[in-house]
This record gives sequence, C-alpha cells and structure tokens, in this order.
Amino acid sequence: MPPSPSPPSPSHADLRVLFITPEAHGLIKTGGLGDVSAALPAALSALDGTPAVDVRLLIPGYPSVLAGLKYKRKIASFGALREFPPATLISAKFSNGVPVFAIDCPGLYQREGGPYNDPAGRDWPDNALRFGLLSKIGAILASDASPLKWRPQIAHCNDWQAGLTPAYLHFHPGKKAATLMSIHNLAYQGIFPPGTVTQLGLPAESFGINGVEYYGNLSFLKAGLFYADTLTTVSPTYAQEIQRAPWGFGMQGLLKGRADQLSGIVNGIDTDAWNPATDMHIAQNYNAATLAKKTHNKLVLQQLMGLASADSKVSDAPLFGAIGRMTHQKGLDLIEEIAPQLIDLPAQLVILGSGDKPLEESLLALAQKYPGKIAVSIGFNESLSHLIEAGADCFLMPSRFEPCGLNQMYSQRYGTPPLVHGVGGLTDTVIDFAPAPVAAPPRRRAVGDATGFLFQQMTAADLLAAAGSVASLYRDKKRWRQLQKNGMARDFSWRSSASRYREIYESLLVA
Ligand code: ADP
Repeated sequence: MPPSPSPPSPSHADLRVLFITPEAHGLIKTGGLGDVSAALPAALSALDGTPAVDVRLLIPGYPSVLAGLKYKRKIASFGALREFPPATLISAKFSNGVPVFAIDCPGLYQREGGPYNDPAGRDWPDNALRFGLLSKIGAILASDASPLKWRPQIAHCNDWQAGLTPAYLHFHPGKKAATLMSIHNLAYQGIFPPGTVTQLGLPAESFGINGVEYYGNLSFLKAGLFYADTLTTVSPTYAQEIQRAPWGFGMQGLLKGRADQLSGIVNGIDTDAWNPATDMHIAQNYNAATLAKKTHNKLVLQQLMGLASADSKVSDAPLFGAIGRMTHQKGLDLIEEIAPQLIDLPAQLVILGSGDKPLEESLLALAQKYPGKIAVSIGFNESLSHLIEAGADCFLMPSRFEPCGLNQMYSQRYGTPPLVHGVGGLTDTVIDFAPAPVAAPPRRRAVGDATGFLFQQMTAADLLAAAGSVASLYRDKKRWRQLQKNGMARDFSWRSSASRYREIYESLLVA
C-alpha cells in the first residue's frame, strides 16, 4: 500500500499586532515605557513556537523619530479630520528589525522639547490633539477603514496616549481588531476639558460614566480602560494595588470591576543593552566570574562625580546610586531626608535624574553641602546611567509606588544589589535579604537566595535602617559577593513575559 500522504501541517498564520506607543528607546525615551516599547516587540518577534507574532510599532514622528529611522517610505496619507491636521504615514524599520509606522504631522510633532512637555517642562497645550491623532490613526489602521493591506488582529495600546484607540474602535461600525490596553503608570491619565470630546471626533454618547468621562472631563486612560477588550499592567503586585486607593488614582472602581480581565506581567529588560560583560558605556567590563573588576567602575564613577576615593575608610563605604525621574513617585525626597545619616554609615551617594525643579535644586544644594560624599547630576544621561549601575555598590529605589521599575533589574544584573521600597514591581523582582520578621542581626543572617533589600514603611527611619543593613553586609565581603552573584544569575530577559503577551493576544482572538 502506498504510504498515506502526510496531513498538511496546520497553518499557523502570523498573529498580527499593532503596538501603539508614544515612545520607544532608540528613537525617543523618557522612562520605562520607552524601554518596554523597544524590547517587547523585538522579543515577541523572536519568540519560538507558534503562532509567530508579526508586531509593528505605531509612534508619533517627533524629530528624533524621523531622524532615527532608516529607509523611510511614505505609505499613506490622512486628510484633515475634525481638528487634526493632515498627516502622512511613514514606514520604516527599527534598528532591532521591528517594522515601524511613524506619523509625520509637522504641525503637531516637529518641535523642540520633549514628547509631552515643552523645554520649560510644561505640558504641550495641544497634547489632546497630539495623542488624539496617535490614537485615531491607530484605530484606523486597526479597522477596515485602513488604507494599508496589512491589517492587525490586535491593537495593543500603551498608556493614556494610546487610550482613545479602543474608544474609536468601539464606535467604528465595520470590522476591527481586538484591543489590549496596557497600563505602564496609572498616575498619568491624559485628562482634558469636556469640549475635547467633539474636537477629537468622539461621539457625544461616549461622554458618560460608562465611557470616556472622568469627573466631568475627558480621560484618555479611562477611555482605554473602559473600552479595551482586556487589560494588562506591568507587575502582578501593581495589578492588585491599582484596584484600591490610593494607587488606583481614582480608577480603582473600574479596575476592580474588570479584575477578571486585568493581568500583571512583569517587564523584562533588554539583556543586550544592559550587559556588564559587553556594555560600551562602562569603564571596565565584567561578569559574575570576574566581579573584582567591577571596582574599577566605582573608581571611575567616583572620579567623574568628584567623590572621594583614596583612603581605605572610603573604600569600605558602600556607594549608593539612584537614577530616575525626579517626581514625588520616585521618593528621592526620602533619600534627601536621610542623606546626612546615610553618609555617616559611612557611605557615599550619587544621584542622576531630572524633573521637578524644586527637587532638582534641593538635591544640588545637598551635593554642595557634602562635597566628596554626595554627587548629583541633573539631566538625562544614558551613558552615566550605565556607569552608575556598574559603579555603585547598591542601587537605591525608594519609590512610593512602582508599576514595575527597570533599574532594580538592571542593577541586579550588574552585581549592584538594590535597596527598594516593597511595592509594585519592586516586590515582584527583588528577593529580600531580610524578610520580616527580622530574627537575627544582618551579620548572622544567611544570604540564601536574596538579591537585595526591601523596606516596607515609606519613612526615613525604615529606609535608614535598611541602608544600615546594606552597609553592614557590604563589609562582609564573602556574603556580599553571594548577594551580588544571586542577582546576576537571575533571568530578567523578555522571553517568558513575551510568551504571556502572546497568550493574551491569542485569547482575544478566540473570545
Ligand atoms: P519610569 O518608567 O517610572 O521612569 P523605570 O524604572 O521603569 O521608571 O524606567 C526608567 C528608565 O529610564 C530606566 O531605563 C532608567 O535608567 C531611565 N532613566 C530615567 N531617568 C534617567 C536619566 N536622568 N538619565 C538616564 N536614564 C534615565
């Protein structure tokens, strides 16, 4: 008998996803969303198994985006819609190979300053239009109104700037993609006066409690949270915290009501960009087997920042590093409060960041008061951020709330154990050296599989006590090394998180 023909292999059509985001590292970045928007699509594209994910980015064409993209092609035009000026869609490829659609609309995006703020730090007055257009074009591309042949099955909307896409799609009568709304930080909601609703072409009926209205105004984020088919946020603990006050920032009722459709998936990190063995920004590369070489980075960092490095007393003192947006969220004010006692441990402190002007100024004044012991650099400095991760002994992250946080993962990978507040993604990604109740003093506690330090109360006393544990364990070189190695051995790559996102995409197709 002739062999029966083998059955045709099941056809696993690609899963097509439009990833709508206001920033992506390599083109434009202000924080963690930028890192995620560059790394997650790349990880999704690289996933083994089926279905393959064909993910493409949609991003506003700010100057750095248009300048940073190579081999650009104009592929579609959009006429003026309501108050949106005409725009052009540019197709290009990201340096990591992910296809990108950039919205070229010079009237809205071609200007000096940040993506959300003018050079003086004030919100752009036309942010509703700027991100309304991002959301609107996202909805067009994700529906049968799209001028493109490529049609996504999923519109993956990131943060408030893409929050209107699910609302536009909800009211679109034709065929459309399913929607996933990802919350990277619930504190930013995109709230605008009620007149914006018609200005942006949303139907009047959408303006109600069961819709885009939030206490009499239009909320982009609420729109996304209400209309999207499903919701994610960036860590399991944060997914719980946002269902209650205060970290629900007014959305807790809605989120609790949708708890069944809300998943927390911890972010991964870009393990190529953040690899101490190959990092081009640091003074000396090293890995877990050559950890002694890390010290050279500390010396270079101390010299660069004007911190003392010569005497042995100083070399026995841990250097604490902190990097982040200078906002109330990040708790840098608490570091400021404990700084005099911190340096008496003894310890040194280096801080990099920018944001609220009064905080910037008081931190600079602190550095002036304690020369050689505290150094502060104001600004966004990619290179210095890598050197701090490599050169500091301990990374400080006393965030009041933290959806996921990335620096605490970078620091574990760099053998720089983090000291973090026990909230959100910090709880989910750092294994505490001193889980409560603390039974023994630090010098007698086993390191076990710990990778860092958590403090629970957002008070100067609690932070200082934890910093004291750091300083004490730091002097015990053997156990400190174990803590460093534990952190360096952890897998923070995107692979497993990207698989979770793929599962969610698939669940939306069958729903
Ligand atoms: P958030 O998204 O709330 O700002 P994350 O920890 O998730 O916080 O991500 C912040 C990202 O931005 C990290 O990659 C961090 O290193 C980077 N970053 C923040 N401020 C600065 C700065 N002043 N200079 C360089 N990088 C910075």
